[in-house]
Amino acid sequence: DERTSESLKDMLDDVITLMDTQAKMQSITIRTEIPEGIFIFCDRSQIKQVFINIIKNAIEAMQEGGLLEIRVSRKENRVHIDINDEGPGIPEDVRQKIAEPFFTTKKNGTGLGLMISSQILDKHNGFFEIHPNETIGTTFRLVLPAE
Ligand code: ADP
Ligand code: MG
Repeated sequence: DERTSESLKDMLDDVITLMDTQAKMQSITIRTEIPEGIFIFCDRSQIKQVFINIIKNAIEAMQEGGLLEIRVSRKENRVHIDINDEGPGIPEDVRQKIAEPFFTTKKNGTGLGLMISSQILDKHNGFFEIHPNETIGTTFRLVLPAE
């Protein structure tokens, strides 16, 4: 665990570049609203892994394509990273078990992505929240201390 001061825009740009091909193949448009100059003190590769896990889930949820929005904002001494998909949403019974190890609803899922993500966020004094969207899909909100 090696902590440095990292720009959220820089980290998310890296991750989006990585996921772009998969998104395009599924007719998913990625829209971002990420201001420059928001920093967190973190283990860069671990936090990038969290972004990859959550964005990958969003892409996997959007089998019919759609809009994937990634928004970053600063709220006092915290940052919010909102990842908004247009997938089918998450039924209540799934939501209860979502961060349990090996819980998956996918044919080839590992069920480890959200468990690992929540462990990494926890080590960084952060967490995630799941918000159902009003119309369609889900927003994962990652909350972390701002530098
Ligand atoms: P995996 O992706 O290997 O299934 P995860 O821990 O990443 O494991 O996710 C666990 C489960 O949570 C998924 O199988 C899926 O049912 C649900 N899930 C996670 N993110 C989303 C999302 N954006 N939309 C709908 N369901 C989701
Ligand atoms: Mg996953």
